[in-house]
Amino acid sequence: MARSPEQLYSELLAHLRQVALLESCGAILGWDEQTCLPAGGSELRADQSALLAGLAHERATAPVVGELLGELTSRGWPADAASPERANLREIARSYRRATALPRRLVEELTKATSLSQKTWVAARKQRQFSLFLPDLERVIALRREVAQALARGECDPYDALIDEYEPAMTAADIAQLFAPLRHELVKLIGQIGQSGRQPPVEILTRHYPADAQRAFSFEAASEIGFNFEEGRLDVAAHPFCSGIGPGDCRLTTRYDTHHFPGAFFGTLHEAGHGIYEQGLNREAWGTPLGSACSLGVHESQSRLWENLVGRSLAYWQRAFPKAQKMFPEALQGVSLDQFHAAINDVRPSFIRVESDEVTYNLHIMLRFELEQLLVSGELAPADLPGAWNERFQRDFGITPSHDSDGCLQDVHWSAGYLGYFPTYCLGNMIAAQLFDTARAQLGDLDAAFRAGEFQPLREWLNTQIHQHGKRWPTAELVQRVTGKPLSSEPLVRHLKERFGPLYGL
Ligand code: ZN
Repeated sequence: MARSPEQLYSELLAHLRQVALLESCGAILGWDEQTCLPAGGSELRADQSALLAGLAHERATAPVVGELLGELTSRGWPADAASPERANLREIARSYRRATALPRRLVEELTKATSLSQKTWVAARKQRQFSLFLPDLERVIALRREVAQALARGECDPYDALIDEYEPAMTAADIAQLFAPLRHELVKLIGQIGQSGRQPPVEILTRHYPADAQRAFSFEAASEIGFNFEEGRLDVAAHPFCSGIGPGDCRLTTRYDTHHFPGAFFGTLHEAGHGIYEQGLNREAWGTPLGSACSLGVHESQSRLWENLVGRSLAYWQRAFPKAQKMFPEALQGVSLDQFHAAINDVRPSFIRVESDEVTYNLHIMLRFELEQLLVSGELAPADLPGAWNERFQRDFGITPSHDSDGCLQDVHWSAGYLGYFPTYCLGNMIAAQLFDTARAQLGDLDAAFRAGEFQPLREWLNTQIHQHGKRWPTAELVQRVTGKPLSSEPLVRHLKERFGPLYGL
């Protein structure tokens, strides 16, 4: 007897859950690699990760996936074009097309090359020597260009094909159009802030903050905003990240610098924002697009929203600052809330993206967006990256890094083959501001809630509006549905003016 469409659909989902299981094994190995793997184990780990990636790829591209998709399409199932099942099939077909465009050899080679090049990157960054990293970077970029060509199939720009992996349905042209007006406003605002003559007392933040107390304070903050530690962890890694291994297991990392308070604290809030998204996904749909995050831009909107819109607000610190003073008496004795709040919102051109403020951060991203397009098109050779970086950095920030670890060696992304990834950070900032505007309009006085330590209404709103839907709609459509407006940089610009205007007397 012929199987019903429902049976075919469940067979397809069962197959994809096995792919997701293999990928979650890879994620555990990746987490372990970043947190506790002894240096000597890196060659073995590269082989293990490559094998797992290859197996997952083989399963994801198995002919049965294409057959089931074809069968369901030919039967016109499901009839309702707006149904969640239809969205799931659309996204499954999309991933299948992407995955089958790549030969297994290329997937394994890239996994191994990036695993090794990340190690080289760590060493090169430590020694401030780009030349140590160059051969690995050349190899990774060559492989990524090969991937981009294979994915584009001559039908679109190769760089767009890479963006599509992180931000489906968006192109470099769409992004450039969103960035242009934002860039204009940022440059203006940074100029005004520079001329204001105000210098927040940032020295407060580099006093002695014991690591144990930082850990306890960050842990409590992550927990309060709603990261569930019964189903998650917080560990130390050189490059902070969040890894949603699967239902019930989501892992955050941060790093503690005893003479820099914001790093670990805001880093943890940020990663917890990612974690809350992962923990809020629809569990029944795990292993399928409906149970996966919409896109990296939307993912980043969740982390930025908690880190910046909530975590750097005055209302948040009206409640948290007295607690911080108790936790760090030596550093914060005699410091006022206003001084502290100004210090954590200090705006100034600086070299390191992850330590930069809410305003200049976006310019850091635009610079990377510009450079990686040139790397993928081949217009910029990897060997010429430091020069191209420094030249643009001087143009945008008015300063030039004195060594490459403060320049093009600072981020892990390119060593990991993540090209097309950077713009999602800035999109995340825009989406966060736009969502927060709508949340404020619908939930009432959020500042009062934060002052009372009530974060649940906002978290639940995000859960029902964003988390629960997974990939049901692409980013632009999701944002339009939730906020009633097309995605734009206007809410972000407004937020920045509202926050930094009073702080800098503009
Ligand atoms: Zn993030």
